[in-house]
Amino acid sequence: MKLHEYQSKRIFAKYGVPIPEGEVATTPAEAREIAHQIGGSVVVKSQVLVGGRGKAGGVKVAKDADEAEQLAKQILGMDIKGLTVEKVLIDPTADIRDEIYIGVVIDRAQQKPVIIASAEGGVEIEIVAKENPDAIKRVAVDPVFGLMNFQATNLAYDLGLKGHYVGQFTKIIKGLYQAFMDTDASLAEINPLVVTGDEQLLAVDGKIVLDDNALYKHPDLAEMRDIQEESPSEREARLAGLNFIKLDGEIGCMVNGAGLAMATMDIVQHFGGSPANFLDIGGGANAEKVAKALRIILQDPNVKSILFNIFGGITRCDEVAKGILEALKQVPTDVPMVARLVGTNEEEGQKILAEANFPSATSLSDAAQQAVALAKGA
Ligand code: GDP
Ligand code: MG
Repeated sequence: MKLHEYQSKRIFAKYGVPIPEGEVATTPAEAREIAHQIGGSVVVKSQVLVGGRGKAGGVKVAKDADEAEQLAKQILGMDIKGLTVEKVLIDPTADIRDEIYIGVVIDRAQQKPVIIASAEGGVEIEIVAKENPDAIKRVAVDPVFGLMNFQATNLAYDLGLKGHYVGQFTKIIKGLYQAFMDTDASLAEINPLVVTGDEQLLAVDGKIVLDDNALYKHPDLAEMRDIQEESPSEREARLAGLNFIKLDGEIGCMVNGAGLAMATMDIVQHFGGSPANFLDIGGGANAEKVAKALRIILQDPNVKSILFNIFGGITRCDEVAKGILEALKQVPTDVPMVARLVGTNEEEGQKILAEANFPSATSLSDAAQQAVALAKGA
């Protein structure tokens, strides 16, 4: 679950990270009032759960309350990467002299939280990683001892900070690390952390991604979920207990088990296709659940073919086969499909499909090749 910029920054502030003292508006009039309270120049920032808002025109500087109202009118309702802007954050404008990136993630290989930092902040860190990997510093933290002062100080020097900035930076990075740990986040990031004209460090942008599996420990954070920002299909899937992530490809995948779903996506890619989604229908999926999953996949207009890859363990292949046919009755479609069912009640499942003239495949590679060919109009 992703938190908005304003939510993330407010959490960081509780850990001693300096942030601009802004407020959230849902109407241009409110934006005007907030800007008036702040006085002087403000930034109007769209609150959508995607990165690169700046480049998309979702972050604009206003010289006064009048302009803030105008800009809020423009930005509210705007579409940024498929998400509608419902809220804007009005922050006092920062006088930016330099932009730094800092973030905390879990490094699975090291089995530790790792601090990632770069003096080349402001742009997406993935781009820095690709174009100038040496500009990225990494510090692994032993979770038992926490982030040590010397690690924080060394990192400050590595980023080229000097004098009073070193102490400020140490406090900020320790705050960010603690916020990451306490919220059970999978990512906590400040990009950019800026050096201002009056020689202070300030967190201008913030992002937290929470680990959904730990949300039960944080009812206060779980409440922050922005229902409107979740794509309708992802919300429907979550409520149906399906593990669904929308992707950009053309081949819809319905699979039981997360590992098998990953393998299915790989093999689709291997045969020259691209998956439209990740979907794990879980164990013991009955006809009703399969029908629901199929409906969710078919909502995506990019889907040109659908591949069912079911390994029957607890899940019974005949149940899945019935589910597919049941769903097709409820949601008639021209999208071609192919199924590979193996495991428990495999013969019964295949018989049900064969009687309905539903194409099936014997092996996964056969199924994937058929799905790719169908997507290409074969
Ligand atoms: P993102 O594009 O979604 O990462 O949004 P950010 O909040 O990081 O803003 C993008 C860029 O806009 C920043 O890297 C800054 O260069 C600029 N920006 C954001 N806030 C301010 C501000 O208060 N003053 C100035 N001058 N620029 C800002
Ligand atoms: Mg940013």
